Amino acid sequence: MKAIRDLIAYNDLKKWVIDPGFCTLCGACEAACPVHALKIEGDRLLYVHDCSKLMEFCPICYDVCPHTDALLLETLSFVTDAPQMRENLGYYRKILLAQAVDPKLRELSHSGGVVTAILLNSIEKKFIDSAIVSRSEEETPLKLQPSISLVPDDIFSAVDAGYSPSAVAKAFGKAVHEYGKTKIAFVGTPCQVLAIRKLESWEHKIMDSLKLVIGFICLWSFSLKPLLESVEKTYQVKHSEIKKVTLNKEYVVHTKERTVRIPIKEVEKHILNSCLTCTDYTSQLADISVGGAHPLEEWSTVIIRTETGEKIFNDALKSGVIRTKSIEEEPEVFAHLLEMADFKRKTALEEIERKRAAEEPVPLASLRLTYLLPKELRLLSSLTVEQTMTKRVMTVSPNTTMKELLEIMTKHHHMGYPVLDENNQLTGIATFEDVMKVPAEERDKVKVSDIKKERLLTVYPDETVIAAYNKMVEHGVGRILVVERENPKKLLGIITRTDIMQTLRWPMKRR
Ligand code: SF4
Ligand code: SF4
Repeated sequence: MKAIRDLIAYNDLKKWVIDPGFCTLCGACEAACPVHALKIEGDRLLYVHDCSKLMEFCPICYDVCPHTDALLLETLSFVTDAPQMRENLGYYRKILLAQAVDPKLRELSHSGGVVTAILLNSIEKKFIDSAIVSRSEEETPLKLQPSISLVPDDIFSAVDAGYSPSAVAKAFGKAVHEYGKTKIAFVGTPCQVLAIRKLESWEHKIMDSLKLVIGFICLWSFSLKPLLESVEKTYQVKHSEIKKVTLNKEYVVHTKERTVRIPIKEVEKHILNSCLTCTDYTSQLADISVGGAHPLEEWSTVIIRTETGEKIFNDALKSGVIRTKSIEEEPEVFAHLLEMADFKRKTALEEIERKRAAEEPVPLASLRLTYLLPKELRLLSSLTVEQTMTKRVMTVSPNTTMKELLEIMTKHHHMGYPVLDENNQLTGIATFEDVMKVPAEERDKVKVSDIKKERLLTVYPDETVIAAYNKMVEHGVGRILVVERENPKKLLGIITRTDIMQTLRWPMKRR
């Protein structure tokens, strides 16, 4: 399914991204274009002159666009030295909760004010000399504009959530070329972060100035004009009255006087075309990912992924501008993070399937998640389950309650645990999906053994990894237990999609 490339990348960009309506106006192509042939104006990307008259060959604008299949594996190398990896969360070092100590920052923020606090501290300590953020005007709080924040005051007005497109990658180029900035922090949504990492993988010269990438946790972005028109018409809320929007399984609009809860069904037609098939909820390529901490107010969920992210975050903590709390103290926040990450991924994969069946175009970056390359197929066919599975497996007992199970998950971050009875015989598997089936207030009464499953999926250690992978895809699960062929009640290990992804990415270069 890989696109056959044209010598002039714009022709491919037009065919695979612009014409099908997948452009999210990040401006990476404009920042990268050596002959300034691309330009974002308003909500359109313009091709202002025919670059093929100046160049015979140029691959760059297609390569750096977040919606193409180019450089996807290369971008992972920025985060793969992190010790932990989960399919829906990406590679990471730590997950925790944090908030700005200054109440003014928390008040200005959509969650805990952590992004602003980290940026202010980093400017003060001269780790960075500027930050690329999105800002909005008081009258139009959801309409985002890219901004190069050069002094602390600019950063105060940065918006710490993504609601609508903002050409932040273009602003990055401007910060280097026009302002001569050399130590820049970039703040954006997952696809904007992907664009910046693609530029970095391309080793584009402007990327020497990138010092920190902060990514938002993001469900979707919206086509703002029609969305706001419908909110005003149905709920009589004007754009200028909106103080804050939160997006979970509802689109929640907060004004000074009231909170309006809008079902997703009502707003989903305004979700950007590319967002419908995007699976990245947590900005998996950022140095630090930050988002809300539902159901807590004024706290942010923080995922630290890289050494740079850890250093900058720890310095903000040491300087006393942020305070933290362990995620283990708040299992409901962790459950919400996982539930939403899972929801986004499943919704996107279903949409990809729907589009494929209807022969509608799908962004190639999203499509890449749904198939294996021939070399990947060969690798997975040549390995046995035994070579890839995890052998030291944490287990739970049939008497473990759902509350205890969630606490174990919050502590260890595994989403499925084999269930062994008092004779060490395998009786089932307890998963995060099981926890979510039970209302929070009943979780201390419901035991693992109360959740009935149709059938336990297992594989044998001598089967191939591709057989296990196909079984996972067929049944829509993320893990399968490995049992002895002669005694299927004897647990030998577990193989997860994460194990398989790690195997595929193992030969990749690491920084
Ligand atoms: S010159 Fe610019 S527009 Fe043309 S192919 Fe290269 S990057 Fe794209
Ligand atoms: S790089 Fe960004 S602006 Fe350019 S086509 Fe892709 S999404 Fe649109």
